Amino acid sequence: MFRHGYAKGVPEPIQKGEKVFRGIPVSNGVCRGKVLLLGNAQQPVSRQSVPDALLAGEIGRFEAALSQTRQEILEVQRKVNAAMGASEAGIFEAHLLVLEDRTLIDEVVRAINQQKVNAEHAFHTVAERYAATLAAIEDEYLRERAADMRDVATRVLNNLTGRRQGVDLHQLKEPCIVIGHDLTPSDTAQLDRTRVLGFATDVGSKTSHTAIMARSLRIPAVVGLNTITAELENGQYVLLDGFNGVVILNPTDQTLFEYGQLVRKQVSLEEKLRDVLDKPAITLDGQTIVLSANIEQAADADAVKACGAEGVGLFRTEYLYISSNHLPTEEEQFQAYRAAAAALSPQPVVMRTFDLGGDKFLSHLQVPPEMNPFLGWRAIRFCLEELDIFRSQIRAILRASAHGNVKMMYPMISGLEELNRANALVEEYKAELRRENIPFDEAMEIGAMIEIPSAVLIADSLAKRLKFLSIGTNDLIQYSLAVDRMNEKIAYLYQPTHPAIVRLIKATVDAAHRHNIWVGVCGEMAGDPTLTPLLIGLGVDELSVAPPVLPQIKFMVRRLKIPETKELAAFALECESAGEILARCQELARNVAPSLFENRVLESGTVAPPAPVS
Ligand code: PEP
Ligand code: MG
Repeated sequence: MFRHGYAKGVPEPIQKGEKVFRGIPVSNGVCRGKVLLLGNAQQPVSRQSVPDALLAGEIGRFEAALSQTRQEILEVQRKVNAAMGASEAGIFEAHLLVLEDRTLIDEVVRAINQQKVNAEHAFHTVAERYAATLAAIEDEYLRERAADMRDVATRVLNNLTGRRQGVDLHQLKEPCIVIGHDLTPSDTAQLDRTRVLGFATDVGSKTSHTAIMARSLRIPAVVGLNTITAELENGQYVLLDGFNGVVILNPTDQTLFEYGQLVRKQVSLEEKLRDVLDKPAITLDGQTIVLSANIEQAADADAVKACGAEGVGLFRTEYLYISSNHLPTEEEQFQAYRAAAAALSPQPVVMRTFDLGGDKFLSHLQVPPEMNPFLGWRAIRFCLEELDIFRSQIRAILRASAHGNVKMMYPMISGLEELNRANALVEEYKAELRRENIPFDEAMEIGAMIEIPSAVLIADSLAKRLKFLSIGTNDLIQYSLAVDRMNEKIAYLYQPTHPAIVRLIKATVDAAHRHNIWVGVCGEMAGDPTLTPLLIGLGVDELSVAPPVLPQIKFMVRRLKIPETKELAAFALECESAGEILARCQELARNVAPSLFENRVLESGTVAPPAPVS
């Protein structure tokens, strides 16, 4: 885990002063090595007058550059797909859409013709205006799309000018830590993994595509460092800590010693975690907790097996739509669902019906933008109106149920009418399949996600009609506390241990158990080992988490005793303060499994604002 860039035997540079930069940790790991500073991609674009007779030629050059860029992006997408799978490669769809944006293309052609200027200047001016507009939008997700826009614009400009980026990140001569203002998703996807020890950027957030890529590639990374590109120079030596979001220039011997210890702890923790992979998730006093995995695509089935999960608790099926440039057919969906179900059989795979809308891009569905997309036409609300989409998915899931242990759940149920309507439609689709003699599992279990406070309050009505409930804490927290889960400005209010959340979870668990059905948690809260004792104490039967964190949760489960979790839950249900509940959770978690927390400076459940410290 501690990757460094010094060749063996080569003396390390003499330490000058140590300088610490703090940002947002987005990908775990520690590395140290030489800085490779990326130049500013925004090179000046000159304005040249073009005579009337040559204007058509400029437009031709522009169209050729668009088509060359398209080929390049398709090639990057193909490589990423092969290396990392369809969900990561899917982000390049957004880049391809920029190239097909008729309004943008027409505007550039108009500018060439009317202002009689070179294609580079016309394109740069229009593209920069689009990117600046996106960058100024409050919504963090849309703001991130400005980076996509600039990424594509740089490629088009390079193709127009014949200029290449100064550094070929795919072919580096020596190990280095890449420092840039903003690494684009395509830069990140092409990083030479044998040479790039880690990377750090001035801008960025946890939800950016670059951060998602870094985690997939398992490259330590820190973003949101504000001015780091202005403060560092090529060839300087830095230490990068992706656990805590820190970059240290000229680390002192003391710092290196401390980080050496941190890395040794990480290595020994990873060994301990490997030990629990094939062991049961059972508490010290014999209570079994079902640990399942959250996945986005059928290909993730391998990761599910490797992390020691007992099946899939949440298959976010909408990624089939998001990562494809067309509406997936029933047959395509069937193939994907069957592959996951068959690969993991007899373990269960819980398919969540499409949760489209909210922050999930619907580029090819032509859905008009909404003022409040998280409160809008999303998930089951969307599916119950777009019946062609719902029907093809339900038929595909039912057909897949003949090939494994498939269960299905509806997202964003807010009232009983939605559940009844969805169930009635499922019955209709089952009748169709029977008439067509297409096999499916008649006993396929159906559950619902509990993500809205109204669903908690009617949980008894839901539970008596369902086989399981799965609490989606990501949304339950945002809807209960009125805190947008994407908005960094109010991130400090996004509190999983808020007394209201604790009580909502307990009410859901009690309702499920009154009706003798199981209840799980599949939001991010389930993947935080600090909160595992609380969730178990509240009576949750199943935790469904991302495969890379599952071993940590199992490690925690195997160190707990039920009475101490019940005591913690009883305290939390009486307590009036989110901070006090969190402190008690931390105390118990750190007592029983201290090694899980040795690399963390930040406490889980807290939000540290990024600020440079020197
Ligand atoms: C949740 O809301 O907790 C959940 C698991 O669903 P998603 O994160 O996909 O909205
Ligand atoms: Mg949700």
